[in-house]
Amino acid sequence: MKITAIPALGDNYIWSIAEQNQAIMIDPGEAKPVLDFLAKSSLHLNAILLTHNHSDHIDGVAELVQHYPNIPVYGPKEVGELANQVVKGEQHFHLLGQDFRVIESAGHTAGHISYLMNNEQLFCGDALFSGGCGRVFTGDYQAQFDALQRFKALADFVEIYPAHEYTQSNLQFAVKVLPPSCELLEYQERVDILRSQKRITLPSTIGREKRINPFMQAVDLDQFIALRQQKDNA
Ligand SMILES: [Zn+2]
Repeated sequence: MKITAIPALGDNYIWSIAEQNQAIMIDPGEAKPVLDFLAKSSLHLNAILLTHNHSDHIDGVAELVQHYPNIPVYGPKEVGELANQVVKGEQHFHLLGQDFRVIESAGHTAGHISYLMNNEQLFCGDALFSGGCGRVFTGDYQAQFDALQRFKALADFVEIYPAHEYTQSNLQFAVKVLPPSCELLEYQERVDILRSQKRITLPSTIGREKRINPFMQAVDLDQFIALRQQKDNA
């Protein structure tokens, strides 16, 4: 099984999970880079997973389904008719021999969900980024805080695959609000080098995020809200 980031739009990643000649795509905000990747890699599209209803995560679905009719499209109710398999928190399903568990992770949108594969890889859309988390467009800070607690409860070795390359700017905020730590500064240095070479900084891990992500470190809702508002106004 091979996981690959397909860059799309300005700073999105569409994650591909490939097994033999089949692939699953997560949050295809554009069709063309996915179709190009499938052709170049001699892969067929097997399924699509959607985390939430923002256009930069779903706008490629209709065209992909035209090329691959009848494939399953998993997603929360909020993506509407794009999903023919509507799922919610704690549901399990299997694709390409892999186990997927749905984790409710609302806050960024009212219906945002994440997908935990084999208890090892978390595809978290805009609910969690390396060094940060998504803006709480719904105003439901409790839901976003609860989502972060669910992520924190996962094993430290779980890899996280967010849908955006926001690590560098998130760490610039993290170093301002967290006590100094060698791990944070070393990580920031590594990320700055990767970005200066236009390279990807992901995946990260739950263990690292627990140590360097200020939003994962917020101990209660008030602290989380204060941090989120500080970052939104930065
Ligand atoms: Zn979003």
